[in-house]
Amino acid sequence: MRRGRRSGLYTIIAIHSTVRGPSLGGCRMWSYDDSRSALRDALRLSRAMTYKAAVADLPLGGGKGVIMAPVAFSRDRRHEVLLDFADAVQSLGGSYITAEDVGTSSRDMNVIAGGTEYVAGLPRSRGGSGDPSPFTALGVESAIRACCERVFGSDSLKGRSICVIGLGHVGSRVAKRCARGGANLVLADVDDGKRSLAQQLGARWLTPARALEAKVDVLAPCALGGLFDDDTVPRLRTPIIAGAANNQLADDRIADLLAARGVLWAPDFVVNAGGLINISVELEGYDLAAARRRVRGIADTLRQIFADAEGSVATPLTAAMELARRRLAAASTST
Ligand code: NAD
Repeated sequence: MRRGRRSGLYTIIAIHSTVRGPSLGGCRMWSYDDSRSALRDALRLSRAMTYKAAVADLPLGGGKGVIMAPVAFSRDRRHEVLLDFADAVQSLGGSYITAEDVGTSSRDMNVIAGGTEYVAGLPRSRGGSGDPSPFTALGVESAIRACCERVFGSDSLKGRSICVIGLGHVGSRVAKRCARGGANLVLADVDDGKRSLAQQLGARWLTPARALEAKVDVLAPCALGGLFDDDTVPRLRTPIIAGAANNQLADDRIADLLAARGVLWAPDFVVNAGGLINISVELEGYDLAAARRRVRGIADTLRQIFADAEGSVATPLTAAMELARRRLAAASTST
């Protein structure tokens, strides 16, 4: 935790694990109530990155950057704090690599790159991997296919009914990909302006509350987290949940509730790792075809998780965490 010499603002870097490789995690710029909540956020998020990278079998550890921003600040001060953050990243000598996150953009990464070489997610024009959303969406489609294979015996989307909730950067692309695969779509968003996408794709439009209860083959939550809890799970009428939204379960116990209801839940941190996988390719010299191939590998990871879960009578959440732990333990004994 440092106080920036230019901006006077606090920047935090949490490194949770480097046993599988340098820790990687986005830089979150947020206006926190106090430094303790900022620190807690950095620690919590860095741990989540360790498991996300391990379960995706990436040669990366988990870390996170946090910039404690004031409620409003000038462009100059923003520039200064980004350079202060870059100093902190550089001082760690590559054990932490930063990228964009909530509150920061690829433009900010360009500024940070002025002060450190340990930054990923740069624009394609700078040899980077660019916007992560298309890769996250490709990963979600691959996950949906793996789930359909598990439940219906075929990974084809033709004629499958798929409901996508949240039609932003990722969800809109998931919807288009599924439409191309021949799925019948149901779409929902709090933003009524997204109805035009439904018209364009010939999809049915529902409010988010109705969409949650839609009788469909697959529900793909691609908006905010915390969607599934004691109230919503009993109302579900889908056999599959696979979507991009982070932290979909109100708490881990909900995974048991979903399994008891006969719903196959693909763990969110496995499904939405496409952006991270894409960035990992950037670190070894960007290759688009390799990035796409590896993102599609999310389907294989899920096949393994579902098989492990069945074999040990566990939920997919437990099996995914166990897979990540096994990979972390193997890496720590080999170093
Ligand atoms: P986004 O902000 O571009 O889109 C979110 C969409 O959800 C918007 O259209 C918004 O109107 C809608 N929305 C918000 N609240 C809603 C609600 N209650 N019900 C229905 N719709 C609602 O975000 P994004 O980049 O598409 O990311 C979507 C989710 O995926 C987030 O949870 C994000 O953390 C996660 N994720 C994204 C990426 C990525 O590459 N962008 C990677 C990993 C995880």
